[in-house]
Amino acid sequence: MAASSDRPGEFELIARYFRPLATAPEAFSLADDAATLPSRPGEDWVVTKDMIVEGIHYLPDDPPASIARKALRVNLSDLAAKGAIPVAYCLGLALTEAVDADWLAGFAAGLAGDQSEFGVTLLGGDTVRSAGGVTISVTAFGALPHGTMVHRSGARPGDVVLVSGTIGDAALGLRVRYQPELAASVAVGHLLDRYLHPRPRVALAALVRRYARAAMDVSDGLVGDLGHICRASGVSAEIDAADVPLSGAARALATLRPDLLATVLGGGDDYEILMTAAPERAEALIADAAAAGVPVTAIGRVLAGEGPPRVRGADGAVLDLAGKTSWVHR
Ligand code: ADP
Ligand code: MG
Repeated sequence: MAASSDRPGEFELIARYFRPLATAPEAFSLADDAATLPSRPGEDWVVTKDMIVEGIHYLPDDPPASIARKALRVNLSDLAAKGAIPVAYCLGLALTEAVDADWLAGFAAGLAGDQSEFGVTLLGGDTVRSAGGVTISVTAFGALPHGTMVHRSGARPGDVVLVSGTIGDAALGLRVRYQPELAASVAVGHLLDRYLHPRPRVALAALVRRYARAAMDVSDGLVGDLGHICRASGVSAEIDAADVPLSGAARALATLRPDLLATVLGGGDDYEILMTAAPERAEALIADAAAAGVPVTAIGRVLAGEGPPRVRGADGAVLDLAGKTSWVHR
């Protein structure tokens, strides 16, 4: 890699910024060609990869520590939604000439903070040059008891549809980034933070395994992602818009601008866990999740028959979200 003015060459870059993050013996201090993943008797590895691209999944002026945290957290969110506890990750970086030593230091600091917060360690990666835009690719490894990964395909008619946390914050936060005038009447700090910093629901992983028949994380939008569960499970579903949990800031903005409901329900970047559970188990799931510190809310039900989910408004009428139910480009 050709170094930009104050950026070290590839080998020094790896040694300076990434070796300190590779604390497990299996990473061999990033001084070998590969790492090892020790086998865990009685467990499965769950593996996922999500890439984030400058200008698509984050904005070029986002703080580098926040970009790093997003790159890692969107992967940890997938692991949690499958019921897995995160263990380790690999990092692929395509860097432009604009990336300097300060950016790299901030990026590595963001990873370091999240490594201690989520108990993961860096195993290896690759660093290349990009001619147009930074691309960050994380592959994350999680573990769970053998055969217990929760799939999209297990939803059954009569199941309750549930979701963790609050929906719509990040999509509204992104809206505010592009339309700062929205911040004039509503306190948007929470929304902006949710866009920058997904909150993977690692604390729910064990409960997802115990209770969920089907689960996935909400990355492309609540309604579109519920559609993925429906398709994989051969069912349909119905959600009540009024039951979808909103933060105070999201509620305030959606009250002021009812047209933003489509953004809330379909915008994406929520990184909450969408699940279905047997009706007689839903209350226990909600109570155990609350005890684990994560609110979980029932928002609808799984229906027999195939087809995309319907959303009912407060008056019971089916809402037309004008096709804005998923960011299909992601
Ligand atoms: P090669 O090109 O021979 O595969 P590299 O120079 O790409 O080797 O990598 C050398 C070591 O540095 C490897 O252990 C690799 O996993 C690690 N590495 C390279 N880039 C990164 C990165 N962005 N994050 C973590 N480890 C990295
Ligand atoms: Mg390499």
